[in-house]
Amino acid sequence: MRVVLVAGARPNFIKVAPILRAMARQRDDFDPCLVHTGQHYDREMAGIFFEDLKLPRPDIELGIGQGSPTEQVARIMLGLEPILTSRQPDWVLVVGDVNSTLGASLAAAKGKVPLAHVEAGLRSFDRRMPEETNRVVVDQLADLLLTPSPDANENLHREGIPEERIFEVGNVMIDSLRTVLEEAPPRRGEGRTLASHLQNRGPYGVVTLHRAANVDDAARLTSLLGALGEIARRLPLFFPIHPRTAARLAKSGLTLPAGIEALPPLGYRDFLDLWSKAALVLTDSGGLQEETTALGVPCLTLRETTERPITVECGTNHLVGVDPDRILVAARQVLAAGMSPNSTRQLVVSERLPLWDGHASERILSALLDRSPR
Ligand code: UDP
Repeated sequence: MRVVLVAGARPNFIKVAPILRAMARQRDDFDPCLVHTGQHYDREMAGIFFEDLKLPRPDIELGIGQGSPTEQVARIMLGLEPILTSRQPDWVLVVGDVNSTLGASLAAAKGKVPLAHVEAGLRSFDRRMPEETNRVVVDQLADLLLTPSPDANENLHREGIPEERIFEVGNVMIDSLRTVLEEAPPRRGEGRTLASHLQNRGPYGVVTLHRAANVDDAARLTSLLGALGEIARRLPLFFPIHPRTAARLAKSGLTLPAGIEALPPLGYRDFLDLWSKAALVLTDSGGLQEETTALGVPCLTLRETTERPITVECGTNHLVGVDPDRILVAARQVLAAGMSPNSTRQLVVSERLPLWDGHASERILSALLDRSPR
């Protein structure tokens, strides 16, 4: 079975890595072709993830680079069209909700190539969020909707997607998490990890922010930094800064309050090492809401909506919105509860998340084989 897998941005690499690894184990059944669109292209946002997650070199690089969403989507469509025509794959497989996901889905639909979407069915119900329109369009185009959790199935049913296209496979992000956690830790004397270096200073929190709604508006960004600065008076915060956010901070002339240490965007392993030992994570990331849930790390989500409500139901993620007072109250409550960091870093076993077991990729491959429309 020929599968063109398309990835282009940081969270995509984390999702395709375990699928490609599973395909390598079943190489008699699968002939994968990895297309890197180049939506994220530098070492910090792309290259390091190929190393950390042992991704193979892309078979094809489209090199679309920066541009407006429309430019990016159009360049991906133009780049993929001849590839799909010449390769005639059995599937185009897309992951997540970024512009690369949308561009590749449109190219597959126009080229009449069956489309499989990993992480189908997630909805924030906020159409102002660019990722939400990507999700809705991609799911309407997809022939196979591979969902992470039952709430995603329900969303798709509500949108009239036929049941036979939906396949609950679980959460592929957790496959990557599990693989990296199960690898042997660095041996003593092999050099200290970033987290052990930072941890020497005592308990800490970790911040990530990059959603357009939070960082593109200087007033919102200022108010969030104010709340984070208050928290940092009690708990030092480490903030690996997404390039989008760095650009917005520079443009607005904003500086970080005392107690918040700026870091560059981190590789998967360094970042995992850091957040998994944190007393508190404050984020607007989608993937990090899931990862903190999987390891039971307290997380405050600085957004009004989440497309991952199951992480809130599981108890460690709190959807606190963007009001500084609410953020502060929630942070105080979590810190007062005094949860100690998950030092064993074992995956939380929850009956709510039966398919967040590190085996989603195998189920994805089964679905591709079973449901091939050709
Ligand atoms: N991540 C990382 N380094 C960082 C920040 C995030 O490796 O400095 C990882 C994080 O653990 C998660 C993924 O990137 O696996 C999430 O990506 P992002 O927050 O950019 O996208 P979203 O999930 O919100 O779409």
